[in-house]
Amino acid sequence: MYLRKKRAVVTGSTSGIGLSIAKVLLQSGCDILLNGFGSPAAIEGIRESLRNDYGATVLYFDADVSNPHECRNMIDYAHAEWGEIDILVNNAGIQHIAAVEETSDERWDAVLAVNLSAAFHLIAAVLPGMKQRRSGRIVNIASVHGLVGSKHKVAYVAAKHGLVGLTKVVALETAGQGITCNAICPGFVSTPIIEAQIQQRMQVGDVSRAEAERLLLSEKQPSGQFAEVEEIGALVAFLCSDLAASLTGAALPMDGGWTAQ
Ligand code: NAD
Repeated sequence: MYLRKKRAVVTGSTSGIGLSIAKVLLQSGCDILLNGFGSPAAIEGIRESLRNDYGATVLYFDADVSNPHECRNMIDYAHAEWGEIDILVNNAGIQHIAAVEETSDERWDAVLAVNLSAAFHLIAAVLPGMKQRRSGRIVNIASVHGLVGSKHKVAYVAAKHGLVGLTKVVALETAGQGITCNAICPGFVSTPIIEAQIQQRMQVGDVSRAEAERLLLSEKQPSGQFAEVEEIGALVAFLCSDLAASLTGAALPMDGGWTAQ
């Protein structure tokens, strides 16, 4: 419970990595504000089960983080409920697979808005309070695609490289003020965001799901295994702890060796 009573906003926490981050932070003692898409009934179900499992405050705010006003509204809501925000995890993300010339302006704008600009708007909204209290933790869920490129992911790779750059500037502007800002750079993790890539390999190769997953991993990830969502959650919790006070401005790969090649 080393994050006891810390108040954490986690974007995109109705699914996949974000939901796991929320669970690990709850386990570590935090109260949580969930955000992300899903049916109201499903989201209420998640809230209810997290409350029952961890006995903590679990809020939800339905901001579409591609909209700067909704980002601000969510932070205003968290401040109104809690007074202070100790932890911000920018996790919401979307992917789009297409060659550069086949990527529409709309998809480019959407991927940049969710994966990059949202983090800027949310960080700008939480920083004044963190600076005043000289305390805070910001974790941006980037990707190996914040460190290296891959074909057919132009908007995503550009956004994630931008997110790593944003992380460094925030770390520099907050250094020595009790605040850290880091990026985590996962390789392939088995969540809905990579489903289209698995389906595409199943159709093109007429192969089983297991074979399509093996093919996908073998292209990039030397471990041959997906990273588990819990691994990302555990690294977030460590970055939010006092023991990570000097760790700032880093982009930490968790990629089964992808970027070691
Ligand atoms: P996911 O699709 O399971 O979850 C994405 C979450 O973001 C969902 O809760 C969704 O509702 C939310 N979201 C999407 N658009 C939103 C918007 N406009 N406003 C608010 N919420 C929105 O995918 P995931 O794999 O859990 O992805 C989480 C993060 O991890 C993303 O930033 C992604 O780029 C990153 N990532 C994932 C992988 C992977 O292999 N799964 C690898 C590297 C990085």
